[in-house]
Amino acid sequence: MAKIIRGFKDTFGKQAENLTKLENCARKVFARYGVEELRIPTVELKELFIKSTGDTTDIVQKEMYAFEDAGSRNIALRPEGTPGVVRAYIENGFAQNNPLKSFFYIGNMFRAERPQAGRYREFEQIGVECFGNASPAQDAQTILMLKDIIESLGIKNYKVKINSLGCAECRPAFRQELINYFSASKDQLCDKCKDRLERNPLRVLDCKIDGPKFTNVPKQKLCPSCQEHFDEVINLLKGKIDFEIDPMLVRGLDYYTKTVFEFVAGTNAQNAIAGGGRYDTLVKSMGGPACPAIGWALGAQRVASVLEEQNAQEEKNTRENKFFVISMDKTCNQTAFNLMQNLRQAGFITLGGIFDKNIKAQMKQADKNNCRWALIIGTTEVEKGSVVLKDLTNAEQKEFLQSEIISVLKKVQNEKN
Ligand SMILES: [Zn+2]
Ligand SMILES: [Zn+2]
Repeated sequence: MAKIIRGFKDTFGKQAENLTKLENCARKVFARYGVEELRIPTVELKELFIKSTGDTTDIVQKEMYAFEDAGSRNIALRPEGTPGVVRAYIENGFAQNNPLKSFFYIGNMFRAERPQAGRYREFEQIGVECFGNASPAQDAQTILMLKDIIESLGIKNYKVKINSLGCAECRPAFRQELINYFSASKDQLCDKCKDRLERNPLRVLDCKIDGPKFTNVPKQKLCPSCQEHFDEVINLLKGKIDFEIDPMLVRGLDYYTKTVFEFVAGTNAQNAIAGGGRYDTLVKSMGGPACPAIGWALGAQRVASVLEEQNAQEEKNTRENKFFVISMDKTCNQTAFNLMQNLRQAGFITLGGIFDKNIKAQMKQADKNNCRWALIIGTTEVEKGSVVLKDLTNAEQKEFLQSEIISVLKKVQNEKN
């Protein structure tokens, strides 16, 4: 039997549905912000990612899905979208002719990391890259674009963290301060961080093992122009989105400058579902003109999982207006059966009729089918011509005459859960 390659995954059912929903929401929001679609190749020269993503990042060092093709070219399946988009922006002449341009992409990315629970070698990212605008307004609207997508999808519990990483003027001092700070307790760092301390000390802040270990870590002191930019971004965002300023937020890539941000959501609320930042020097360093830019990417599967989690939770909390008829005794079966058919004739969604099971098993089925209401008939009820109506959301029950039950149900089914 043919088998899927380890680390890859088939997608169907709810997850496929949610991914499509997310893509549709994103397209609508992008249109509202005047962002155009850009489709770029899945493979690029490996060099492109080394130059842009940065060779001190984990992505390039360990996780790139790279190989030599039949023409002896070193190529890589794209690990992220930004480098390809920047290349296309330069190569297609936008940088020269029409620099103020924003693009979005929807596509699959690849990482050759060792497969672990819930992480796959191929995954979808939706991202945006906005070129040519250095104004803090661009930072703010880029972040709000992401918020609009997340909210139009219906995701409620998420958090936004924002920080500024400074610029070529103020960052080197911070870098050096971090190297000094962490070098003093180098033996306490994990192996990865020992290794990257000199090359990329900011990443130590980001490390899941070492990040929480250190208190009183030196904070970035922004130069006046970075500080002014950051203050303005914060002012523009106030009242439009809930966020917190997190000085420990650095993001994993080498090319970020000034504003960086991250959206986290999910059960443990530690799960980054999207993130991005400004990268004002990348276009130039990749051979284009000096050009400010900012962008973000969201992990489509991560967002879809959060949505699925949330929906499952809500379904648990809301029962459907369905009625389950229960007979407590053999002698009640005829009456219960008649009631069931009468309800259906009157248009109610009615389940039940498993009268050969005991009451507990019947109740369990009502629960399994997410019915809000149980209608119970026992020997007393048969005698009195009545029926017990039980609300399964709060276990409250009340007795009604069988002759009036239809009109009662018409009223209760409009009550709020
Ligand atoms: Zn600065
Ligand atoms: Zn570490």
